[in-house]
Amino acid sequence: MRINALPIKSKTSSRRPKDRLCRAGCNKPETLNHVLQQCHRTHGPRINRHDTVVSVIARALETTGYEVHVEPKIQTDIGMRKPDIVAKLEVTALIIDAQVVNDQISLDGAHARKIDYYNNINLVKEKYKVQNATLTSATLS
Ligand SMILES: [Zn+2]
Repeated sequence: MRINALPIKSKTSSRRPKDRLCRAGCNKPETLNHVLQQCHRTHGPRINRHDTVVSVIARALETTGYEVHVEPKIQTDIGMRKPDIVAKLEVTALIIDAQVVNDQISLDGAHARKIDYYNNINLVKEKYKVQNATLTSATLS
């Protein structure tokens, strides 16, 4: 995959657009990005990969004394937010959301978009009764 050698149809089939469609019936070109980031056929493994990242971080925080909440629901003015982890230690909370993005996406840009999504950390401060809250992401490619 790193050298783009996976035999996906957009590389191995003829130039006719119809022959290059995803073999899972998605009606979209079977590109590496589609297979790895969008296709329903790889949805389960994609979710497992994300959940494994969250689990590793949660375990590490728990072993260092944090009270860890995985996927808590937080109602905001702009809808329900469900960060992957809220970790509380005394008067401080860490809000962490994990994401695995493709290699063409800037990690800094993906991190910034995640931070924007959880812009109201005051609600977390109120819910977990802490004085400080830090918002961050675990962004991997
Ligand atoms: Zn597909």
